[in-house]
Amino acid sequence: MSQLEIKDLHVSIGEKPIVKGLTLTIHSGEVHAIMGPNGTGKSTLSKAIAGHPDYTITSGDVLLDGASILGQEADERARAGIFLAFQYPSEIPGVSIANFLRAAQQARMAEGEELDASAYYKRLYSKMDLLKIDRKFTSRSVNDGFSGGEKKRCEILQMAMLEPKFALMDETDSGLDIDALRIVADGVNTMRGPNLGVLLITHYQRLLDHIVPDHVHVMYDGRIVKSGDKSLALELEAKGYDWIKKELAASAA
Ligand code: ADP
Ligand code: MG
Repeated sequence: MSQLEIKDLHVSIGEKPIVKGLTLTIHSGEVHAIMGPNGTGKSTLSKAIAGHPDYTITSGDVLLDGASILGQEADERARAGIFLAFQYPSEIPGVSIANFLRAAQQARMAEGEELDASAYYKRLYSKMDLLKIDRKFTSRSVNDGFSGGEKKRCEILQMAMLEPKFALMDETDSGLDIDALRIVADGVNTMRGPNLGVLLITHYQRLLDHIVPDHVHVMYDGRIVKSGDKSLALELEAKGYDWIKKELAASAA
């Protein structure tokens, strides 16, 4: 069992503080949702955890199984078991999904170690079967001309192949259509289990109808201001975020 601990994290972009003291612990097997209004720092949080170089962690810590990951580059964090699903994945014309995933697997192996091609394809096809993805899919270039749903399918397949300990999924604001939303939800629900922890970032409650979270957190102005179970998401949907702002203003007064 693994644990991802975010401890009093402060993140700046340039000189501007965005995440302002966020604390959250996720255990494997759990799905946590973070909801919050636009501009509150949700995407900044996920990118900072994944090790994006534009985001400066000014204080606090992120620990994976008790060890800080902050000194590690993004690829080391990925190898340690942190997966960031992109809100807007890049297109890589000329590189097939099969070759891309193979290179990603090879990159995770020790120097001099060679990936066994037949074992790789066996694993790839078993994951594709699990996720009900057509075999023809992996001969296409990564995200090249893909629909929103196909891009999500490609992300989910990467996640299945990399078998992360923790998946950070930022689905905010992307206006996922119903097709893409189902692909993400079915993928996460298929992979959900005792070995995977998920941090699902979403602006809308809609996704949480399909992926029922164990914990829901409201992020506002760079902090978690309220936590609860899945009913909190429904409350937010019904009442909007103004209610949280009013509650905060009242408690500050
Ligand atoms: P959310 O995902 O909750 O909508 P973000 O983390 O994307 O919020 O953004 C939080 C704040 O950081 C916003 O005010 C946004 O304008 C600012 N911001 C995000 N990315 C950048 C960037 N690359 N450069 C400058 N400011 C940024
Ligand atoms: Mg965002």
